[in-house]
Amino acid sequence: MWLGGKRVDDVLAEPVLASAAHTVARLYDQQHDPVLRDVLTYENGGERYPMSLAVPRDARTLRRRGAAFRTTAEATFGLVGRSPDFVNAVVTAFASASGFFDRADPRFGRNVAAFHTACLASDRFLSHAAINPPLSRARSSSEQDDPYVHLRIVRETSEGIVVRGAKLIGTLVPVADEIVVFPLPKYHPGDEAYTVAFAVPVATPGLRIVCREPLVTDPDRLVSTPLAPFEEIDATCVFDDVLVPWDRVFFHGDVDAANRMYDVTTARHHTGQHGIVRGAVKAELLTGIAVALAEMSGTNSFLHVQEMLGEVLGSLELAKAGILAAEADAEMSEWATLTPAIAPVLALRYHFPRMTSRMIEVIQLLGGGSLLSTPSEEDLNSELWPAIERFFRGADGVPAEHRVRLLKLAWDATGSAFGQRQMQYERYHSGDPVRLAAAQYFGYRTTPLLETVDRALRPAPRGTGTAPGATPQEAHS
Ligand SMILES: Cc1cc2nc3c(=O)[nH]c(=O)nc-3n(C[C@H](O)[C@H](O)[C@H](O)COP(=O)(O)OP(=O)(O)OC[C@H]3O[C@@H](n4cnc5c(N)ncnc54)[C@H](O)[C@@H]3O)c2cc1C
Repeated sequence: MWLGGKRVDDVLAEPVLASAAHTVARLYDQQHDPVLRDVLTYENGGERYPMSLAVPRDARTLRRRGAAFRTTAEATFGLVGRSPDFVNAVVTAFASASGFFDRADPRFGRNVAAFHTACLASDRFLSHAAINPPLSRARSSSEQDDPYVHLRIVRETSEGIVVRGAKLIGTLVPVADEIVVFPLPKYHPGDEAYTVAFAVPVATPGLRIVCREPLVTDPDRLVSTPLAPFEEIDATCVFDDVLVPWDRVFFHGDVDAANRMYDVTTARHHTGQHGIVRGAVKAELLTGIAVALAEMSGTNSFLHVQEMLGEVLGSLELAKAGILAAEADAEMSEWATLTPAIAPVLALRYHFPRMTSRMIEVIQLLGGGSLLSTPSEEDLNSELWPAIERFFRGADGVPAEHRVRLLKLAWDATGSAFGQRQMQYERYHSGDPVRLAAAQYFGYRTTPLLETVDRALRPAPRGTGTAPGATPQEAHS
């Protein structure tokens, strides 16, 4: 593992990685909290398992899992996207659709199911990396000028497959137990060697984890950067001839299946539920900050500010409504799992980044120059305090320390490097929004819409007493 030009031998000795590890550890600890245990876990045969590994076969389980996603997200204000429950939902979808993997080879279906069982037994922390390095997005994997940039199979041995190349973006990989690698569309004929899905421990020989530059310099400065504990470090995963044992191979060598895998196994739908639930929790933080800023400075008495607040609160409500729609319109999949409706998920995938962007803008408009004039954490405890206390108070008796902390929170959530990454995360965390919107169009049941247009094209003659657009026969049938 590499961080800032240095090889990392002890993850916990690096403050930024240790901070991420502690945040993840707290999420695991929550599962043992007597108050939260029944939300976050389920009981089977006297043992407890994470809800995120439960296969939703009915509406109750799907809703319970949604509640567990929400409780986990609340612990990090929705700022940690790759909490352990995220890839758990992927692996659970894969396992419940083991028949998909069977089609290539029954061994692979068994491997996927066995991996899920092993995860149930150990509740290990899974991360994932699915994207190929963007050397040239205009060329397929096999057409890149270096055949070993995109991860590919080098050879098969009696022990397993040997892979070489890179995958990104491995968020939280540096503090995870295992990394799950799988293909996301789109692959082309000739890319067969690049289509591979598997799981390996992060500490696998030949696997190098290159952390991105940390966005938080000191995770303990919790007044200046209150969201520092939620810096989920991203990383690039470089495979230098890594041996993946056969029992960890889920799939390989099939372009068509690789392109359909995420959708057909319904991993897209199940992670979609996670994404929109977590997103709504983040939206609660952002809209809450906007309201608090306006109330603290008394600007909430101005009509244009009230409109801005109404706008972002409306977006929050739409985000929450999308979750209910995805759960209420859930459908039974070919794998007999109850699958969140994809249309509301894709709708939010497209619109939520825009809503988030506007929430950020509103916070910055409301905060004004104050966002960039707060004294430092150290100043609060210095001889400057009397002046700070006097000049940094808010409206109606808001104490200076509270106002300074709120302004710092507002900046950290929107303007700091951490806040900017959050925005980029919302844009891209589950794929390119442009192509996701196109997928919405291609997958949408447009027939009823076109029938509506047909009805509108055949207006009922005046005085027939039939409903608009209905023919007299239809009206009486
Ligand atoms: C903060 C963050 C954390 C992430 N964490 C993870 C993670 O844990 N695991 C993981 O696997 N992934 C993760 N992702 C990666 C995420 O899945 C990708 O960012 C996403 O799929 C988009 O791919 P890309 O970044 O390569 O962008 P690209 O697909 O390269 O898109 C960049 C731009 O180019 C355009 N473009 C590119 N190719 C085409 C094309 N063929 N046709 C039309 N337009 C094109 C897009 O429209 C877009 O405007 C993370 C991303 C971010 C930002």
